Amino acid sequence: MARRKYRIRKKDIRYLLTKAVAEAKDAHEICGLLIDNGYFLQLMETRNISKRDGSFLMDGREVRSVNKAAEKLNLDYVGTYHSHICWFAKPGDSDIAGAEDNSLMLIIDNMDKEVKLWRIKNKRAYPLSFEII
Ligand SMILES: [Zn+2]
Repeated sequence: MARRKYRIRKKDIRYLLTKAVAEAKDAHEICGLLIDNGYFLQLMETRNISKRDGSFLMDGREVRSVNKAAEKLNLDYVGTYHSHICWFAKPGDSDIAGAEDNSLMLIIDNMDKEVKLWRIKNKRAYPLSFEII
C-alpha cells in the first residue's frame, strides 16, 4: 500500500458520530468496512453480531460478500471501522490482535466525538492523518 493522504467525507464523519452516539445508549458499538475508491475512504456498514456490550464482531460472511462486491467494482478493501463507547479513539489490544496486518482502522469515540485513523502493522497501531472533504 502506497503512502498517501486519506480522505473521508464530512457527511460520513457526521453520520458515524450520530450513529455511534445513538447505539452507545444501548452499549452497542457500530462497525463496518473501509473501502478505498482511489479518492476517499468509503464506509460500508456491517452488522455487529457481538453479544457482549461494548464490543464488536463482524459477520464473516457479510465481510466476504462486501469484499467480493468491492473487488468487482475495482475498489480496494483496506480496513475496518468501529466505535468505542467508553474508550478513546485508539485501538485496544483486542482490536490490534484481530486486525489484518497493514490494514487501516478508523475508530469513533462517541464520548469525545472524535474520529481517528490508524494503520495496524506488526501488531502495533500507528496514527494516520486524514483530510476531511
Ligand atoms: Zn475497539
